[in-house]
Amino acid sequence: MDYEQYFGKRIADLKADGRYRVFADLERICGRFPVALNHRDGKTREVVVWCSNDYLGMGQRAEVLAAAHEAIDRCGAGAGGTRNISGTNHYHVLLEQELAAFNAKEAALLFTSGYVANQTTLSTLGATLPGCIIFSDALNHNSMIEGIRHGRSHKHIFKHNDPADLDRLLAAAPKDAPKVVAFESVYSMDGDIAPIAELCDVAEKHNAMTYLDEVHAVGMYGAEGSGVAERDGVRDRITIIQGTLAKAIGVVGGYIAASQACVDYIRSFGPGFIFSSSMPPATAAACLASIRYLRHHPELRVKHQERAATCKRRLSERGIPVLPSVSHIVPVMVGNASLCKQASDMLLDEYDIYVQPINYPTVPVGTERLRITPTPLHDDAQMDHLVESFCAVWDRLGIPKAGEQAKAAE
Ligand SMILES: *Cc1c(COP(=O)(O)O)cnc(C)c1O
Repeated sequence: MDYEQYFGKRIADLKADGRYRVFADLERICGRFPVALNHRDGKTREVVVWCSNDYLGMGQRAEVLAAAHEAIDRCGAGAGGTRNISGTNHYHVLLEQELAAFNAKEAALLFTSGYVANQTTLSTLGATLPGCIIFSDALNHNSMIEGIRHGRSHKHIFKHNDPADLDRLLAAAPKDAPKVVAFESVYSMDGDIAPIAELCDVAEKHNAMTYLDEVHAVGMYGAEGSGVAERDGVRDRITIIQGTLAKAIGVVGGYIAASQACVDYIRSFGPGFIFSSSMPPATAAACLASIRYLRHHPELRVKHQERAATCKRRLSERGIPVLPSVSHIVPVMVGNASLCKQASDMLLDEYDIYVQPINYPTVPVGTERLRITPTPLHDDAQMDHLVESFCAVWDRLGIPKAGEQAKAAE
């Protein structure tokens, strides 16, 4: 095989499909979030980032930076090993204790990312619980799908956020088989939220474990910010809560929180935990400071929800087709991959607004969109500019407005 030619051909196919990914070259400016520098075509411009997953701007908060600086001065750059072989730093231990308390669980376990947390935990359960069957929501994130696949257990996919469909599938499964129901709280592309209590009712009826990905809710929902399960008062009904330290926490890393026995089991049998070096101590220290801050600052969550609601309302008033999201995510429908890319390019090139286009395979063909994530740090002037720029781009490119899309769909 001519390897180079093969690689080139597959990339050419991606480009022909409009699916080739071009990364925006950003240089974040500490203290000025959501403003960043954008390097492009040999030039540098200031842009306002409207699609960051640093949902609360914690990645630049003084308390978080101070903790990271202190830890790097005390402990150096790297952890020096896997957790088992010299790589458990005291900051990891403190962070796991904090994560357990944060989630109202007995114990917690750190991973190098949320992706690895999902992949490792679900594959370990699938591979090691004898006769395990995993029930997975149809819109689950790739990290859960890969974990479930890799565990090679039986699996069933239930209709998105549909407890009745889950009930039907669980009822048809062998009564004594171990079962895991895996789903997310906030789905980040549509901004909808799972009926967690109803899914727990069904899981409990069939004696199934529950596995909840709170990645897009951590820091943002519940009195102390541990997620939607806290907001809904159902954390004790979730067997394993999974989350990331890279989105609203503002740093990097992932975790699960569960009973002592369950955490000890994944710690002892999960290859993606065992065989990978632990995160730098300064990273763990930064996460610890971020979580401690967020637990005691609900006003940040109130402001975040206000910014998202205001953004949705103002765009809708101007006929920009915002999906009826019930979370902090503001998905704006374009419905066409090439138009979506053109709109994003125009916003960046001519309006200094950065919103990444979301195309297939992240979302289904025909539902291409711009996904806006307002934060407490986006001010009114930036919001005014966003709304005016979206209206201008919609007109210039002839993208259908809200009513027109409905008509086109009939
Ligand atoms: C981003 C994401 C992950 C992965 O988390 P990382 O910490 O970024 O690896 C897991 N689940 C969902 C739903 C996500 O959106």
